[in-house]
Amino acid sequence: MSTGGWEAVIGLEIHAQLATRSKIFSGAATAYGAPPNTQACLVDLGYPGVLPVLNAAALRLAVRFGLAVGAGIAPRSVFARKNYFYPDLPKGYQISQYELPVVQGGAVRITLDDGSGKTVRLTRAHLEEDAGKSLHENFHGLSGIDLNRAGTPLLEIVSEPDLRSAKEAAAYMRKIHQLVRWIGICDGNMQEGSFRGDANVSVRPAGSTQLGTRTEITNLNSFRFLERAIEFEIGRQTGVLEDGGRIVQETRLYDPDRDETRPMRSKEEANDYRYFPDPDLLPLEISEAAIEEVRAAMPELPDAKAARFTAECGLGAADAALLTASREIADYYEAVVAALGAGQARLAATWVNGELAAALNRDGLGIEAARVDPVALAGLLGRIADDTISGKIAKEVFEAMWAGEGGADAIIDRKGLRQITDTGALEQVIDQVIAAHPGQLADYRAGKDKLFGFFVGQVMKATQGKGNPAQVNGLLRRKLGS
Ligand code: ADP
Ligand code: MG
Repeated sequence: MSTGGWEAVIGLEIHAQLATRSKIFSGAATAYGAPPNTQACLVDLGYPGVLPVLNAAALRLAVRFGLAVGAGIAPRSVFARKNYFYPDLPKGYQISQYELPVVQGGAVRITLDDGSGKTVRLTRAHLEEDAGKSLHENFHGLSGIDLNRAGTPLLEIVSEPDLRSAKEAAAYMRKIHQLVRWIGICDGNMQEGSFRGDANVSVRPAGSTQLGTRTEITNLNSFRFLERAIEFEIGRQTGVLEDGGRIVQETRLYDPDRDETRPMRSKEEANDYRYFPDPDLLPLEISEAAIEEVRAAMPELPDAKAARFTAECGLGAADAALLTASREIADYYEAVVAALGAGQARLAATWVNGELAAALNRDGLGIEAARVDPVALAGLLGRIADDTISGKIAKEVFEAMWAGEGGADAIIDRKGLRQITDTGALEQVIDQVIAAHPGQLADYRAGKDKLFGFFVGQVMKATQGKGNPAQVNGLLRRKLGS
């Protein structure tokens, strides 16, 4: 037995529904939530004699993903039939890609909670069609079949077994989620099933280079469930092995209510599916020009943008990561900086990640529904930058802006929040405060330095928080010292 304990090995297969209007091999709509079987045409229903025609938009989105992860785009790839029977698969086979996928290789960089990073390699990403849905509720001993989802384009993104913990797996899944939304190939809606993952998990003695027998936990549609399912499965497999048992290669389901995985079916082998090239579809050929066209339309990617925010704006890695969590957030931030001036990029970052994020969070809003737009926020931050108000008063103004009371300047004027920067006026207040506290003054001069804060507090109180903090500090030091 090893003394070094066990090491987990995890690889993910992520299914991202591609954001096309029509299906991958037919003209039927892909919109979510339509009444059952209203968006399935003869091709999706598997009628004899009909032929699939590839949706060029789905291919472009797959290429876009491949380029975003630095993968190779196969100049020629092949659609294959994956044969199995299931009521929600009327053709008796799923059209997928097997030996020659369109996207080959690539990698993404993940960042863990402790700030450390890791590169996760991708094996491939291939195009395939989704199956329909079997509905078991409300059918009293029968199953309903809804074929609206049949033929919906999917990109299956397969990682190498490079992940070593449930946390790494969740970070990886988040990264892919960020990326597919960022490049606009998938809406990422996990509740609707547009983004879901299968986790392949094995454990082996620490230090071993051989892979252990794995199980596959299918259909994980939240980051939390993915993490917990893997956590459970690592514990279960370790227990089995420590008891001298063997892991059975199988497909398992995660039950969130009981927080455990349960066997679903024994793992099928590739040859169970009798894959063969689909004779109804020509090999998929992509020209260099077509790839370049997709490349030319690629937005600046999140990692590149985060690196630029760090280098150009002087932001820390954590701030830059938050600001590039989605394109909407990054756009918002860049609009604030554009209106405010690049010199205040850090102030803008602090506010977007701080006050703005907290307000959105509190009200359960996405940034597109922010009640203070980027130009308005820049207006407020400009008043901090030019010393009209302090950062503390600015929070009060921000809340008023959020509540719809108008722009920063109007609120500052109406509420009389302008900072007192008139030295004479401040000196007068300071003299009064000092005169009113002779005991504290004596103690301070006798060496009780901590009392400095007390005097600052008294002056701020007397000015209702409006004394310019830097000036108040400077003047107080002078007056208390003498
Ligand atoms: P299949 O097509 O049968 O699901 P693949 O060989 O394509 O199998 O692998 C699917 C996923 O499982 C990949 O993400 C891969 O990295 C991962 N994987 C393969 N072997 C192991 C293993 N022993 N432990 C953990 N993950 C594994
Ligand atoms: Mg699999």
